[in-house]
Amino acid sequence: SNIVAIVGRPNVGKSTLFNRLLERREAIVDSTAGVTRDRHYGKSDWNGVEFTVIDTGGYEVNTEDIFQEEITKQVQLAIDEATSIIFMLSVDEGLTDTDQEIFEMLRRSGKKVYIVVNKVDSATLEVAATEFYSLGIEKYYTMSSATGSGTGELLDDVVADFPTLDYKDPFEGLPRITIAGRPNVGKSTLTNALLDHERNIVTDIAGTTRDSIETLYNKFGHEFVLVDTAGMRRKAKVSEDLEFYSVMRSVRAIENSDVVIIMVDATQGWESQDMNIFGIAQKNRKGIVILVNKWDLVEDKKTNTMRDFEQGIKDKIGQFTDIPVLFVSALTKQRILKAVDTAMEVYKNRQKKIKTSKLNEVMLPVFENNPPPALKGKYIKIKYCVQLGTPSPQFVFFCNLPQYVKEPYKRYAENQLRKHFGFTGVPIEVYFRQK
Ligand code: GDP
Repeated sequence: SNIVAIVGRPNVGKSTLFNRLLERREAIVDSTAGVTRDRHYGKSDWNGVEFTVIDTGGYEVNTEDIFQEEITKQVQLAIDEATSIIFMLSVDEGLTDTDQEIFEMLRRSGKKVYIVVNKVDSATLEVAATEFYSLGIEKYYTMSSATGSGTGELLDDVVADFPTLDYKDPFEGLPRITIAGRPNVGKSTLTNALLDHERNIVTDIAGTTRDSIETLYNKFGHEFVLVDTAGMRRKAKVSEDLEFYSVMRSVRAIENSDVVIIMVDATQGWESQDMNIFGIAQKNRKGIVILVNKWDLVEDKKTNTMRDFEQGIKDKIGQFTDIPVLFVSALTKQRILKAVDTAMEVYKNRQKKIKTSKLNEVMLPVFENNPPPALKGKYIKIKYCVQLGTPSPQFVFFCNLPQYVKEPYKRYAENQLRKHFGFTGVPIEVYFRQK
């Protein structure tokens, strides 16, 4: 989907806007317990158009004495990766040198830029904001965090200007798999190992939101498309050290795929950046397979080594642990075909549609035997269930008092679905509704 980046110097109010954009959505998406809140990245929608928002300020190490260099790096990244850029200014400090410098970068980029003057809380400040016309611009939006005004007009325009993708997808209907992970975990090695001696069709559709490189893989009875963002790697080379960069890159690739293979380095373990990638895949409801790579480097392997390593990861990732974890070596090619098989398995699980009759036949007795706990003397009865026609599995359970069904029971319902129908590697949503 389209990526909207919010840029500006520290303290202009980037995070406030970011949080407001996420508010309504986050409440729905994060209702599943255990979802990690990544405060710098989120999904939003306006008038039914979905988009991704990135708060570049979320990556500021220390907002008080942030270096100029750091700010320009972030702006450059936004220019490289985002569809549209919201450039925030603040009326209370007026136009600063830093503002001017950022604006210069944005102007030269040719990207769609929306200039927003924040903290315009009164008519007097509305007049003061006209100072920003000195940038030589024709239009700016004013916003007030205090009154909450201004967001609507801005978003109307942002969403209306999104580019329309009018090209034919050459791989339509084929599973799309992305290999994600921190730098140096072995992503390129795995990609090369998989594609070795293959004749590939590579499409590099630049200038659209789908500007990742997609390679067709057709071997060992599997046909799928590897989604890679190697091109973006080249563009933003300077900033490869930034977590922000790797998150941006992952977001783009993950959104374009069905299954995400998250690679971890066996010699390093599961770290916060791995958690970030996991969170993005989970929020986007993509299939997930975890590969612990460089297993060849782990010496002195005992019977429990794998089990302990896997448990270590699962202890950290929260509620959603029904995920395959494989121990591989991209270098020696140990178990990499198993990894492909597993990714395809997860793809099938994500596509799976349970017939309504079968679903009710299995789930209604399950609920009858173990109903939700009664609340205030009222009994909850689940009468009917359906799977929605969404790209990833989502289920609605109709009952008399949905508001009384609490989180633990929702998780119970999810686990029962997993147990009876097999959704390994796939995030599931369950909703309880009034009939
Ligand atoms: P990327 O940044 O994730 O694409 O990582 P690379 O594929 O470039 O790998 C980084 C380094 O780790 C290279 O020197 C690889 O040869 C090495 N490497 C990758 N996979 C393995 C593995 O399974 N075992 C060992 N021992 N080294 C590996």
